[in-house]
Amino acid sequence: MLPHFLESIVQLITRTSTDLPPDVRKAMGLALHAEEPATRAGQALTIIAQNIDQAASCEGPICQDTGMPTFEVKVPVGADQIWMKARIREAVAEATRRGKLRPNSVDSITGENSGDNLGPGTPIVHFEQWQKDEIEVKLILKGGGCENTNAQYALPADLDHLGRADRTLDGVRKCILHAVWKAQGKGCAPGAVGVCIGGDRTSGYLHAKEQLFRTLDDTNPDPRLAAVEDAVMDAANQLTVGPMGFGGKTSLIGCKIGALNRLPASFFVSIAYDCWAFRRLGVTLDASTGAIASWLYREGETPSAPMLTPEQLASGFPRTGREVRLRAPLTDEQVRALKVGDVVLVSGRMFTGRDAVHAHLMKHDPPVDLRGGVLYHCGPVVAKTGDGNWRVTAAGPTTSIREEPYQADILKRYGVRVVIGKGGMGAKTLAGLKESGAVYLNAVGGAAQFYARCIDRVAGVSLMEFGTPEAMWHLDVTDFPAIVTMDAHGNSLHRDIEQASGVVLAEQRG
Ligand code: SF4
Repeated sequence: MLPHFLESIVQLITRTSTDLPPDVRKAMGLALHAEEPATRAGQALTIIAQNIDQAASCEGPICQDTGMPTFEVKVPVGADQIWMKARIREAVAEATRRGKLRPNSVDSITGENSGDNLGPGTPIVHFEQWQKDEIEVKLILKGGGCENTNAQYALPADLDHLGRADRTLDGVRKCILHAVWKAQGKGCAPGAVGVCIGGDRTSGYLHAKEQLFRTLDDTNPDPRLAAVEDAVMDAANQLTVGPMGFGGKTSLIGCKIGALNRLPASFFVSIAYDCWAFRRLGVTLDASTGAIASWLYREGETPSAPMLTPEQLASGFPRTGREVRLRAPLTDEQVRALKVGDVVLVSGRMFTGRDAVHAHLMKHDPPVDLRGGVLYHCGPVVAKTGDGNWRVTAAGPTTSIREEPYQADILKRYGVRVVIGKGGMGAKTLAGLKESGAVYLNAVGGAAQFYARCIDRVAGVSLMEFGTPEAMWHLDVTDFPAIVTMDAHGNSLHRDIEQASGVVLAEQRG
């Protein structure tokens, strides 16, 4: 039955992970052209544009966090949903084996990674019957960084800078703006929000995520909600949070709002935040063979229009001549000379470390000498080559704030001089940077293909028992670009932009 179904789903996963749909490309193109190239925002968006084109051309994951695969499937009456779900699970495992998805499914009790993206609750598959004689499969891959910036409000509520949000559409508008402001760069701005007004806590989040299946340039059929969407877009893009939270003109590329009935006692506003790496595609399938009949959200097999010209793509990171070159290991003097806003190009060896490594280092000595070293918050996609070596195929930064409870201690204990991640860190780490003589560098979140190309070789790996994304990879890099956003003198660009955008947010009290 349906002999082509499995391969059609593998194709859908592959293209969703590697090739952004035209509406998202268009929105990111507008964001790119709104910024001056030599600004932090302009440089970040140019890296993002290069990354989008690189991912499509090599069919590699756009971002190393390939997210939670969420399928919405519509089937003719009588279709065998049990069989289809089993094939979708097989397709997810196969796409993982082919390196199009990172192994992302972790046992919540033991922390063990299943290795194939299968496990209780992974992937998410929703079925619905319809009257048509064809199958429709839509897929969204939404990563952990943006998932962690989702928000749910119970109205009425008092919101920072905005005051009271009532049970009105204006209250809804305030909640959405508050969520975008709170997200800052942590969800890899500029992002898009799907919103549900009403429902219960569970259905609200589900319906909010479903809004992300709308195209960014559509118009809400409900004029009341369309007006809120427009108002949010206008106000959010005045916040100056900007790409990656670096400051800039574009903080949001889409706002899509739906509504469900609610209980009289409840008024939830649920917000699903998706990052610029907004990976969403779909297909219709022949109901008798499972072969792809058409693509949704894109023009069939026609290649996507590139973000950049071949010359722009070949020119690499847009340099201003003011970049600071660093080679690890680094001295206290070198690090203390850096200031917030400096653009640096890091070469030498760096070590990856995210949640499991940080927890491990609180109780055990590191497997390598970290003195003067560079610790990269990253869970790469790594493949074994034919000669038995490792090759990194996607390696962007992960959200750093998760390591806030550990970072200052690790800097002090082991002499780490540079932490690279995204989204910034908090007051405890800022104090730790000052005390230990270290800096935090913000790399461009989601730019997994771009940064993979800065890696010359994998020199080794430690702590493989934590699974591929959580292991400590030893990477030799050349000219890895990032921006100093927290320095050794107590300065933080993240704190400054959060405060400045909070002042602008307050103007939206109404
Ligand atoms: S672009 Fe950023 S938020 Fe989105 S999946 Fe990648 S790391 Fe996560």
